Amino acid sequence: MDKVIITCALTGAETTKAQCPNLPVTPEELAQSALECEQAGAAIVHLHVRNPDGSPTADKAVFKKAIDLIRKKSQVVVEITTGGAVGMTPEERIDPVSLEPDMASLDCGTVNFGNDYIINTLPIMRQFAAEMNKYGVRPTLECFDISHVVSSHILIKENLIKPPYHYGFVMNVPGALPYNHKNISDMISRLPQESEFTVMGIGRAHLPAIFAALSFGGHIRVGFEDNIYYSKGKVASSNAQFVERAARLIKEAQKEPATPADVRKFFGLRS
Ligand code: ZN
Repeated sequence: MDKVIITCALTGAETTKAQCPNLPVTPEELAQSALECEQAGAAIVHLHVRNPDGSPTADKAVFKKAIDLIRKKSQVVVEITTGGAVGMTPEERIDPVSLEPDMASLDCGTVNFGNDYIINTLPIMRQFAAEMNKYGVRPTLECFDISHVVSSHILIKENLIKPPYHYGFVMNVPGALPYNHKNISDMISRLPQESEFTVMGIGRAHLPAIFAALSFGGHIRVGFEDNIYYSKGKVASSNAQFVERAARLIKEAQKEPATPADVRKFFGLRS
């Protein structure tokens, strides 16, 4: 794909309003943020949802409300999480896929989250891939470790994932794979044919990951899930502020941001 996809991860499961006053939390706030991100150049929004008190939830009714409101306001491609949050069961995490979002994340292995962890065994991964196929949802193969790229080949070999593949390299989660050129090159070298990849630099890795995506021919993810600082010590005013900068950098690199329609066509999503 020649154009560069910007995904915005609007809220995640961990960031709080106390850290980040403009964090979108309610379905209404998420839909407004998605619209602003689309207008700023994002093609995909990655979606988690929250309870009214801000804690993470996998409640299908809340997901449905957020997805419906986003679709009412914008054309942006909706990718929901199935990583969920620390402590959720696999059954809870996969349940919202039946709402038929355009895409969903599919974690390709168990991962540390600081002192916590999220479990993704091969049977869980197979089950998630099968559910996504059942509901016509395209996976983003999220890899927090080099071994996760290797595990994804097993699903592909078993015909559970269809090309073109979309990978997400999640780098710099505490206790997981650090962001650096050696690790990103290693992950890229293990990708199957017909793969696109988005680089997700968590925290401090945010800006380096954007430049790496541009230099290695990948795609960009920004947003409050991954990082709240626009610059040193300065919390971003909105998700759209991150998207605007990513879009500017893409243009400076003499490339073009992909539109939601480009992404739908390339990955064969429903329109
Ligand atoms: Zn997420």
